[in-house]
This record gives sequence, C-alpha cells and structure tokens, in this order.
Amino acid sequence: MNPELAALAQRVKGFMPHNEGLALYRAAAEAASQGPLVEIGSYCGKSAVYLGAAAAASGGVLFTIDHHRGSEEMQAGWEHHDAELVDPQTGRMDSLPILRQTLIDAGLEETVVAIVGDSVTIAAHWPSAALVFIDGGHGEAPAHADYEAWAPKVMPGGLLAIHDVFPDPADGGRPPYEIWLRALDDGFIGFAAEGSLRVLRKPVSGPASL
Ligand code: SAH
Ligand code: MG
Repeated sequence: MNPELAALAQRVKGFMPHNEGLALYRAAAEAASQGPLVEIGSYCGKSAVYLGAAAAASGGVLFTIDHHRGSEEMQAGWEHHDAELVDPQTGRMDSLPILRQTLIDAGLEETVVAIVGDSVTIAAHWPSAALVFIDGGHGEAPAHADYEAWAPKVMPGGLLAIHDVFPDPADGGRPPYEIWLRALDDGFIGFAAEGSLRVLRKPVSGPASL
C-alpha cells in the first residue's frame, strides 16, 4: 500500500486497526479490477482510504455508503459518541464533511464516490459489486438487513468482507459474528481473517439465493 496513504489512514478518526486495514487493502486489491468495490459504513473515511488506495492502484472505483447520521451506538450518551461530529445547526450527527476532507487529503476524490443514504434502500437498486464490505449498523436488525440486502450483490467469485466479527462474546457484539456464520452457511468460502475482519469469497457457481 502507498506509504503516504497508509500513514493518512492511521490518522483519520474511526474504527479500523491498521493491521485489519491492510488486510482489507489486500482483499480489495484482488477484487478492484473485476468490478466496483462497495463499502457500507463510511463514517469519517478511515476504511475508505484502505479500500480506495486499492481501487486507485488498479483503476477501479469504491462506492462508500453512509447516511452519516451515526449508528445507534454513536448517538449522544452511547459508547462511541463523538461530540465533534454533531452539527450545531441541527443537533444531529453528521460525519459527511469529515469524510469529504479525508478524501481530499488522500487525493482519492476521483476514485471514491460517497453515497449518502440508507444502505438497504441503495442495495435495492444496486446491480453488483466485486467486493462488498459490511461495517454499518452493528445492531441485530441492521446487521442482518445489510447481509440480506448486500450478499446477493457480490459477483460470483467476488468477495464479502465483514468487520467486527467476534467469536467470543466477551470481545464484542454478536450480530456481525452471526452474519459471518450465515455467509458460511450460504456457501461463502473463507478467504482471509485478520483481527475482527473476515473476508469470504462467493463461489463461482452456487445456490441462486446467494
Ligand atoms: N468503516 C468506518 C466505521 C463505520 S461506523 C471506519 O473505518 O472508521 C458505522 C457507520 O455506519 C456509521 O457512520 C453510521 O452512520 C453508518 N450506518 C449505520 N446504519 C446505516 C444505514 N442503515 N445506512 C447507511 N449507513 C449506516
Ligand atoms: Mg467496524
């Protein structure tokens, strides 16, 4: 990975340890020449720098999706709240201005397209992707909804990456782990694992439900 982008990614606010970001980069580098990369959960653009660096290296594109209003656990009073991300005009969370600045700083404005909206609504109109990275809402309903909406969009032979997969409940919430199990059950095949990142490959031919 381009060392300047690797250094920038580590400075951006967010939730992506560097070792996991590098594993994400490697997966994206494998997929980016085959079709578009899609990320659910841009936040301030930390993981988008790893994915976008891989897309840029092969002339690909990353679509990064977020409504920028924060997940449940990011609202005021919750564990992952950051008061700096509250828009004083509306009193609501807004991470979009920081995402835009991150993409400018990274020189990735041509490579990374920010899509602002609800991930499931967007999926309903989305054709397909060479890699889908799920890192949006981590609650039971949002995580399963993202899996159901986006797993079918992964091209045959394409990759599905899931963040915050914790086999031991002591380490974190269940839903990302549950959707990883669902993916295995649906026929996806393990491709890479690093920290809480899991990357799976969709078989070239398999059940139509995938
Ligand atoms: N990938 C980021 C972290 C993402 S945090 C990083 O590297 O730091 C999860 C993000 O998912 C939040 O910004 C939240 O606004 C977004 N999100 C949650 N539910 C969503 C939904 N239904 N549609 C779009 N974005 C959603
Ligand atoms: Mg995460």
